[in-house]
Amino acid sequence: MSSHPFTERSISGSKKAESFTESVIREMTRLCQIHGGINLAQGFPDFPAPDEIKEAAVAAIRADVNQYAITWGAKSLRDAIAENYNRVYGMDVDPERELVVCCGSTEAMVSAMLGVVDPGDEVVVFEPFYENYGPDAILSGAVPRYVTLHEPDWRLDPDELAAAFNDRTRAIIINTPNNPTGKVFTREELSQVAALCQKWGVVAITDEIYEHILYEGEHIPLASLDGMRERTVTINSLSKTYSLTGWRVGWALAPPVLSDAIRKVHDFLTVGAAAPLQEAGVVALGFPDEYYRQLSVDYRARRDILLPALEEAGFSCYKPNGAYYVMTDISRFGFPDDVSFSRHLIEKIGVAVVPGSSFYHRPEDGARKVRFTFCKREETLRAAADKLAALKPS
Ligand code: PLP
Repeated sequence: MSSHPFTERSISGSKKAESFTESVIREMTRLCQIHGGINLAQGFPDFPAPDEIKEAAVAAIRADVNQYAITWGAKSLRDAIAENYNRVYGMDVDPERELVVCCGSTEAMVSAMLGVVDPGDEVVVFEPFYENYGPDAILSGAVPRYVTLHEPDWRLDPDELAAAFNDRTRAIIINTPNNPTGKVFTREELSQVAALCQKWGVVAITDEIYEHILYEGEHIPLASLDGMRERTVTINSLSKTYSLTGWRVGWALAPPVLSDAIRKVHDFLTVGAAAPLQEAGVVALGFPDEYYRQLSVDYRARRDILLPALEEAGFSCYKPNGAYYVMTDISRFGFPDDVSFSRHLIEKIGVAVVPGSSFYHRPEDGARKVRFTFCKREETLRAAADKLAALKPS
C-alpha cells in the first residue's frame, strides 16, 4: 500500500449530491419491475409513438445524420419550433438567437437554472412541485421559496405569492398544466406572477410540457403576456406531446441574453441532443392541429376511466384540468403515511404510484396523498382498476 499522505482521506460524494435523494418516481418504476406490477407511477406512455415520427428517425439515421448537431440545436428543428410557436400562439421567435435544444426539458430546466441563477439567489417554487425542481435548485445553489397551491382546487393566494418576492429573488418556476396537481394556471394568476416578476426584476422559468394535454381552461404561455417575453425562459419537449419520453429532446426558449447563458451551460453539460432524433422532431412539430385536438380527447377518455375507478376504490381525487396525473387523498385507507401505503400498493395490490411526499419539501405535507398517472392504454387502466378494487377503505 502507498504511504501517500492523502490516502487517509475518506472517499465520498459531494455535499450537493448528498443533499438530495434518488428520484422517488424513477425508484417506483424499478420497484414495479421487481414486483411485476402495473406502473401508474412514472409518466411515460405504454402505447406507441406516431409512426411518421419513428420513420423520420430511421430515415435520418440512414441518411447519416449521425454526428454532433450544432450544440444549441439543428437549424431545421429550431426553425420548426419557432414556426410552431408562431402558428399556435402567434409568438415571434428568432430561431438563431432564442432557442436552445437540450436533452429533454429536464436538461433544459437545469441548464436554465445554472445559466440564470447564482448561488444564494432565491427561487420561488409552487408547492406541490414536480420533484426535479428541488435538486435543480440545489445544483444551482438556489434557495427555494415555496408558495402553496391550496386544495381542493390548488388555488394561488396572491398575498402569499407577493410575500415570497424580495430583492434576493432571481427566478420563479411555473409549471402549467401542472404536475402533480393537474392545475391549469388562469390568465389572472399568470398576470399576478408577471406583475411581480416585473416589479422585482425576476426571470420566470416556465415548464409547459403539458401544453397540449388540456381538459378545462386554456393554456396561456407566460411569455405571451405583456412585458414577459424578455424575462421568460419557456421550457418544452417532444416527450409528452408526441409520446417520446425516451428520446430526450427538449428545448428552452429565452431572450438572447438568457439563451446565450443557457447555451453555454448546455454545451458543457451535454454538447447536444441526439442529432437524428432532432431531425425527426421536425416532422412531429409539423403535425396538423387535429393531432393535438385528438391528443386531449384521448387523454380525457383515459382520465375518465381512472378517476371513477379510484373513487370507487376509496380514494378522494383532485380532478385534473390538464396534464396526465391524478393526486389523491388516501386518508380512508388508514395507513400511517404515503410511503407505507405506496409500498403496500406495489407489493400486495400490484399497482405502482408515487408517494405524495415527493412533491413537498416537508414530507408530512404529502403524507396523506399519492399520485397516479393515466398516460397508459385503456386496457392497462382497466387492469389497474380491477386490482385496486381489492383495497379496503375503512
Ligand atoms: N417537467 C415536468 C413537469 C414533468 O412532469 C416531466 C416528466 O414527467 C418532465 C419535465 C421531464 O420531461 P422531459 O422528458 O422532457 O425531460
